[in-house]
Amino acid sequence: MIRDTRGRPLEYLRISMTDRCNLRCRYCMPKEYFDSKYQFLQRDAILSYEEITTIVDALLDLGLKKVRLTGGEPLIRKNVETLIEFLQPKVEVCMTTNGILLNEKAQDLWQSGLRNITISLDAVDQPTFQHMSDSKIDINKILSGIELCLDMGFKLKLNTVIQRGKNEHATKDIIDLFSGRVDEIRFIEYMDVGETNGWNLHDVVTGSQIRKKLGNLKKLENQDQSQVATKYELNGQIIGFIESVSKPFCSTCNRARLSADGHLYTCLFASKGNDLKSLLRMGANQNEISKAVKTIWSKRSDAYSEQRGEESKPKVEMSFIGG
Ligand code: SAM
Ligand code: SF4
Ligand code: SF4
Repeated sequence: MIRDTRGRPLEYLRISMTDRCNLRCRYCMPKEYFDSKYQFLQRDAILSYEEITTIVDALLDLGLKKVRLTGGEPLIRKNVETLIEFLQPKVEVCMTTNGILLNEKAQDLWQSGLRNITISLDAVDQPTFQHMSDSKIDINKILSGIELCLDMGFKLKLNTVIQRGKNEHATKDIIDLFSGRVDEIRFIEYMDVGETNGWNLHDVVTGSQIRKKLGNLKKLENQDQSQVATKYELNGQIIGFIESVSKPFCSTCNRARLSADGHLYTCLFASKGNDLKSLLRMGANQNEISKAVKTIWSKRSDAYSEQRGEESKPKVEMSFIGG
């Protein structure tokens, strides 16, 4: 197992399948920037499934335990189930998706061996959902996809980013609709990722503000410190809070991110990644990738959320590096 300069292991890799998405959530890919003129990655710039597998193999040698397929929207990448089939026997695989394509893809995902899916759902009512995602997508398409996954036996988590004055009511709506039926309902503090979402501290609703409104929450004991969500229980349902703005968790951060174009990022708020794709395409093998990542990780000192406000380097977009 390798450790960075703060003693943190590399145990978790989030892999961006594509920098494209079928939504334009205002806090992630605002339409004004991600429009028809935006230069998305070309096909040959994106890692193949074989290349991703080599990188995962290299990281397994260093102590990797889990990977998450994300994006952009992972389900718009063609045959994503093929990659899951490659990875599943070696490492725990899960996925984060906006759920739009679950009705079409759930069967293939199940057959590939995937069992854990996190679905991002910022509201269950049509007007709020369409406003948050800046789209005309019918919320019922996502809700029916979730129901299908529940019927099939997937273990589901729901992720909701709460923004002040926009979807605060969604906390209660989502609990009412899904309590007792999903593994975890998680509320995420709106973060200052990237440079395009016009983030403002005023728009952040903190975990403790949400808890105050929900009432009756009981904090769980003996929580896994490497998990980003702090878990509570409400009438038997686990409710998680990802409080990266108000309660940073950098000291236990064991995660790296692999962008769709093969750069390894050691922090969500980094401005630059480390180009593994070029190494691979120059002929580097699994051992050589392992060595390169060992060097990168051993120099890592990232702790952006603890130091928020101190630095002003431009940050990479979340949809690009795999949120
Ligand atoms: N498209 C997929 C989805 O939405 O689930 C996967 C990629 S998305 C970037 C991953 C997660 O990042 C989503 O749960 C989304 O809500 C979250 N996210 C994006 N921008 C965020 C921000 N500014 N603050 C907090 N969470 C954010
Ligand atoms: Fe797309 Fe996910 Fe970003 Fe929304 S949060 S724009 S669904 S990548
Ligand atoms: Fe990890 Fe960077 Fe987030 Fe801190 S700010 S928890 S180091 S990704």
